[in-house]
Amino acid sequence: MSERLYYSDSFLATFDAKVTDVREVARGDGESVWQLALDRTAFYPASGGQPMDYGALSAISRGGAALEVPVEQVEEDEHGEVWHFVRKPLTAGTAVRGQIDWNRRFDHMQQHTGQHLLSAVFLKELQVPTVSFHLGDSVSTIDLAGTVPARHSLERVERVANEIIGEDRLVSVNYVARAEAEAMLAAGILRKLPERDGQIRIITIADCDRNACGGTHLRSTGQIGGLLLRNVEKVSRGVRVEFACGLRAVRAARADAVLLGETAGALSVGAADVPGAVTRLLNEAKSGAKERQRLREELAAYHASRLAVEVPIQDGLRLVERSWKDRDRDYVKMLASRTVSAAPETVVIFCAEEANPARVVMARSLGLEFDCGRVLREALAELGLRGGGSPDLAQGEVPIAQADALRRKLAEVVRRTVAKAAAI
Ligand SMILES: [Zn+2]
Repeated sequence: MSERLYYSDSFLATFDAKVTDVREVARGDGESVWQLALDRTAFYPASGGQPMDYGALSAISRGGAALEVPVEQVEEDEHGEVWHFVRKPLTAGTAVRGQIDWNRRFDHMQQHTGQHLLSAVFLKELQVPTVSFHLGDSVSTIDLAGTVPARHSLERVERVANEIIGEDRLVSVNYVARAEAEAMLAAGILRKLPERDGQIRIITIADCDRNACGGTHLRSTGQIGGLLLRNVEKVSRGVRVEFACGLRAVRAARADAVLLGETAGALSVGAADVPGAVTRLLNEAKSGAKERQRLREELAAYHASRLAVEVPIQDGLRLVERSWKDRDRDYVKMLASRTVSAAPETVVIFCAEEANPARVVMARSLGLEFDCGRVLREALAELGLRGGGSPDLAQGEVPIAQADALRRKLAEVVRRTVAKAAAI
């Protein structure tokens, strides 16, 4: 079993080791990946919520050539062995030098140690325990029990955490027996204890937090650099708090500043006036939409009375057929209702051809013995299309190319039906 060098020295970036085992894993894309086990490793495998390390292994081949293989993935199996995923096989017994991607590791240690600190401060300041946490390649979060804390409480937690970072308190590692760890947990001096036997690894932030953890940590809180709380949202079992530490916090704050600057620029206001400007715009949009609707209704009423004048009643029927390429379907429907209610003995067959398929609307005045829903449904069904509605008003969709033919067909049915009713 591989000796885990990061347990005793999380700042070890280069190490010498021997390959103890190799196995080939065929992947779906036909390429092979080899998994190497080493007698000792500084590579952190994906586990415990902390992302894995990347890096490289270098070796001297039998022919004497220097060889370097990137380590693309590091995982531990159920027996506790650590496997390094590479694209070239190295035989067991090969001496290798491992080099981990230090920038990535240091960033993870900042986020991880920052998480210990943040969880401790949330517990101390707001009495809310951490239920779980996630350290991602770009976003880190902790899930807290309870409801979303007030803004001033979040600001206090952030301030206290940063004060502890500024005090550069020692972060230390020691091991205790399981029974002792359980006693510490019961006494309330250990924040968390995982389900595992044997020696328990305890991470202590001086005068702040004690936590059982197998991850990699910084030597002191000052190395966290700084901690920024970001998005806070309600989730199914509590509250999710996004945070960033170190340069990540700086990058996140910079990205936010750029976004805010662009938004303020687009609104032609200063950054501090963005919320007010957005509220004003939303209110204007709301009242604009209301006014537009009122004008549309007014227009539809005038439009309806003009159509009634344009088309006289012939043989007991005013049949108004129209198509528009520049009117939306809601307006055309409103116009249909207005026209048949404004003028007696009227049937309208309207088409909104603003989009394809076109919307066909059919409506009739009260008193006409005529079922718009049935007539339209049957006419559409002949074209393999669907639609329908009530006897008063019906709608359907038809490809623009077939819209004129459909309208003519509907007009013919309407004339025939009304003529037949008049004859009786
Ligand atoms: Zn930890």
